Amino acid sequence: MGLFERDTEIYKNRDALREDYQPERLVGRDEEIQMYQTALQPVINGEQPNNVFLYGKTGVGKTAATRYLLSHLEEDASQYDDIDLHLTFLNCDGLTSSYQIATRLVNELRDETNQISTTGYPRATVYEMLWDDLDEIAGTNLIVLDEVDHVEDDSILYQLPRARANNNLSAAKIGIIGISNDFSFRDDLSPKVKSSLCEQEIHFPAYDAGDLQKILEQRAAVAFHDDVLDDAVIPLCAAYGAKDAGDARQSIDLLMKAGDLAREEEETTTVTEDHVEAGRHDLERGRIEEGISGLTQHGHLVLYSLLTLHLQNETPIRSRDVRPRYTSFAQRAGRDPLVPRRMRDHLSELAMLGLVSVTERNEGRRGGTYREYTLDMDLELVLSALDDVLDDVGVHDSLQNHFDELDSINGNTSLTEFH
Ligand code: ADP
Ligand code: MG
Repeated sequence: MGLFERDTEIYKNRDALREDYQPERLVGRDEEIQMYQTALQPVINGEQPNNVFLYGKTGVGKTAATRYLLSHLEEDASQYDDIDLHLTFLNCDGLTSSYQIATRLVNELRDETNQISTTGYPRATVYEMLWDDLDEIAGTNLIVLDEVDHVEDDSILYQLPRARANNNLSAAKIGIIGISNDFSFRDDLSPKVKSSLCEQEIHFPAYDAGDLQKILEQRAAVAFHDDVLDDAVIPLCAAYGAKDAGDARQSIDLLMKAGDLAREEEETTTVTEDHVEAGRHDLERGRIEEGISGLTQHGHLVLYSLLTLHLQNETPIRSRDVRPRYTSFAQRAGRDPLVPRRMRDHLSELAMLGLVSVTERNEGRRGGTYREYTLDMDLELVLSALDDVLDDVGVHDSLQNHFDELDSINGNTSLTEFH
């Protein structure tokens, strides 16, 4: 027996659950696909393409629908001798300026021996190269700018869609497909950019549990052997996915995590609800750790304050009532407390990360509103991610019981206590 042994009792094709897998068909997106297809129809007619703008939250099938339709478009266009279609995909994650986008596009269009440096040219020069390259390629060029919301200045978003109208291109026909995960990105575009980039807009709404269930069933049929999944597994993954954000990627990740946990167990040949629950816990832990580790020390101090108030049954609580606790923690950590307004910004950031939930309340007759915050996370998970700040501030009284329990298990205490 070798050191490595195959363990493929559970999975038939685990790769089908990975992000880069392209499903054969998209489930439950008929309406959006139909609109998208109509928007791309001019390409097949040999006409000037539309600029298309897709938007919707992450994991709702925007990239998958684009890959699906463009691969069909490419295949179908090849039937017509007079269509010379070129597709360019660019994911803008990590690219923040029009300059970066333009240099990347030039390099995508050129072969490997002819690449340009990504710094050093004036922007106008890079744009000139881009127009020259496109005209040399000629034909119909569709350029996909995926996750375009990462781009912070809109020069390229204006220049590209209007390149022909502005006489920068003559031989090449060009269409831009912009894809955004961020709703506000579209609203914040200047009117002149919006009118050219968003000629055809297609909104991808979040999935509900029924949609997610169909998507998961399709994927599971490829990924798992028959009868490996207990009946409740897919509905449970779908229900969690719908509750979280209607995000298909999250649901698929959860299904994969459950499958992995089942596989790690000796002798286990089925995936059960318990594996889903444990998988969700694992994924949640990763998400929380990542979220918390990205915060500043003040963010940690605010979170720790809210956590101790939560343990004392003081939540939901207003920002001004969190303040005394936060001030004393900041001082213990040797930091100047932030002004109330900045402290409140940290509470909002925690809410955005899903660590804290917020309720709007009415002030009563005077008609004002205020916000109340409460911890919305498993205590253990938050505490383990707050390790550093616990070292700086010490263990608050409210956590004493909690640590006593742990001590009786571990038999040590390294943290200072205070009241
Ligand atoms: P977005 O680009 O909107 O963030 P993706 O297109 O990357 O989302 O979709 C996330 C994951 O969910 C991918 O693995 C994708 O294949 C899958 N997916 C999304 N929508 C569907 C669908 N309607 N049918 C099948 N799989 C889908
Ligand atoms: Mg995407």
